[in-house]
Amino acid sequence: MSSGADRLAEVTGHIAEAARASGRSPSDVTLVAVSKTHGADRVRELLEVGHRVFGENRVQEAEGKFPELKAACPDLELHLIGPLQTNKARDAVALFDVIQSVDRDRLAAALAKEMERLGRRPACYIQVNTGEEPQKAGILPKDVDAFVALCRDQYKLPVVGLMCIPPVDEEPALHFALLAKMAARNGLAKLSMGMSADYETAVRMGATHVRVGSALFGNRPPLQPPQPKADA
Ligand SMILES: *Cc1c(COP(=O)(O)O)cnc(C)c1O
Repeated sequence: MSSGADRLAEVTGHIAEAARASGRSPSDVTLVAVSKTHGADRVRELLEVGHRVFGENRVQEAEGKFPELKAACPDLELHLIGPLQTNKARDAVALFDVIQSVDRDRLAAALAKEMERLGRRPACYIQVNTGEEPQKAGILPKDVDAFVALCRDQYKLPVVGLMCIPPVDEEPALHFALLAKMAARNGLAKLSMGMSADYETAVRMGATHVRVGSALFGNRPPLQPPQPKADA
């Protein structure tokens, strides 16, 4: 089995190729290494070869792993990519550097309050449910412009971009194109899209951040607890 460092080099190479093929610079794309379900040792392996950006989808799991890693490596950048419950907003603001899953009014309000209280302002992405899937978190495409405005104007959140997770059984490129269009018309520069199966497509469609787990760390244990939508 190849090492974490080998896989990192491989994925980074594919990102660079996809970027160049679409007239972009590889340095315009950030690889978020999604370490959920994997231990701190696997994260350290990538830190040792210079990787700094990681993603986790659960606050509690990240709290068990990352405070120590961040203390040892202050320029580590940690992204929350999973659903966030309002009652975890404070913990999320305290630990994460980027929150990619802002998806409803109550959460935006809670994040604004905790940022004020803690004096910490993680960059925010609005998660968009591009496939309009009932079981999936995210703002519906028709509501995105108004929600971005609400987050910026009323809550003064540092909104930098949009994030999506396309339906598993659909052509991801269509969803990536839709997300890019919505970001552009809202003046948002960052696009978090693309996972292990489709990150090269996402880069060709303009992703600035790809979230890659299994292609870097191997398959996760099959029996993960379900990930319900966060509280409404
Ligand atoms: C787990 C996860 C990923 C990474 O998925 P892989 O297919 O393992 O690359 C990306 N984004 C989100 C939101 C995730 O929960």
